[in-house]
Amino acid sequence: MIKHANISVFVPHLGCPNMCSFCNQHYIAGTQGMPNSSDIENAVNVAQSSKNYNPKNTELAFFGGSFTAIEFSYMLSLLKSANKFVKQGVIAGIRISTRPDAINAEILSVLKEYGVTSIELGAQSMDDNVLALNKRGHTALDVKNASALIKEHGFSLGLQMMTGLYGDNNETAINTAKEIIALRPNTVRIYPTIVLENTMLANLYKQGKYSPQGLEQAVNLAAELLDMFNKENITVIRVGLHTIDQTKYVAGPWHPAFRELCESAIYLKNIKPLLNAKGEYNVFVKNGAVSKMAGQKRSNLVALENLGYKCKILEDNSLNDFQIKVQKVGKS
Ligand code: SF4
Repeated sequence: MIKHANISVFVPHLGCPNMCSFCNQHYIAGTQGMPNSSDIENAVNVAQSSKNYNPKNTELAFFGGSFTAIEFSYMLSLLKSANKFVKQGVIAGIRISTRPDAINAEILSVLKEYGVTSIELGAQSMDDNVLALNKRGHTALDVKNASALIKEHGFSLGLQMMTGLYGDNNETAINTAKEIIALRPNTVRIYPTIVLENTMLANLYKQGKYSPQGLEQAVNLAAELLDMFNKENITVIRVGLHTIDQTKYVAGPWHPAFRELCESAIYLKNIKPLLNAKGEYNVFVKNGAVSKMAGQKRSNLVALENLGYKCKILEDNSLNDFQIKVQKVGKS
């Protein structure tokens, strides 16, 4: 399988009329960080110079939340700069992320014309109460309508969801995942909510009116969601924020290897029903998954040992993600 790659260009959404509870973009002043055509050119040049560069699997990705809601002529200038590389065959396409209520047939025609291939929507939740409490300014129906329109126009659809928002809980998050699955996106991202300075959530947190998820709680829920999407063959391209500005961090379950923690939690959940009599086991997982099975700092192995199972992990290339085979060592 050819691995997908993105050349990421961040487009801050200046002047956004919304005030989402978790977002601090209003505090970015002036034109700070606004990319232009030479920034795009530089990003492509840097990517091209890497030895693994493959134009066939690389998209230029405009990230930042609301690409189709930025000033129209500026959006067009960015698309034109990126489209040049699509035409030259240097990149396979363009990826954007935007709000569900910033999509319509007209805008999709423009995106198509300039070589956009994938559109990600910040759905965040499919619960209208959670959306309203977090001042998203759109409804779950907007997500459904925009998703249908994006698919009808032949784009790859990505949906992003958050967990631990104000007023959210495990049940609403699981329902959100079910509704997202029903929309059959090509890709999904799962982001546990992190509280940043200068946001509504930071105020609520400081007033004791909002508690973000703890790390363990966030990992367990995200693991369950990841498992749900995996079982539906929907690719989850990210779990957890990659990096955060530590100077703006107030609270919340950020971890640099958040996805790995979730994957280890799935392995631990999947192995438990396979182990019966206490004792020693050889445990087989797919190639490259030994550390996920073992858990961070061998936490899964330790947990299993505490239950009376001493496990040795081995690789078996016939196995898929999260599939496990066990073999009892010695007499039962
Ligand atoms: S997250 Fe919300 S407030 Fe922030 S830029 Fe996007 S739409 Fe605007």
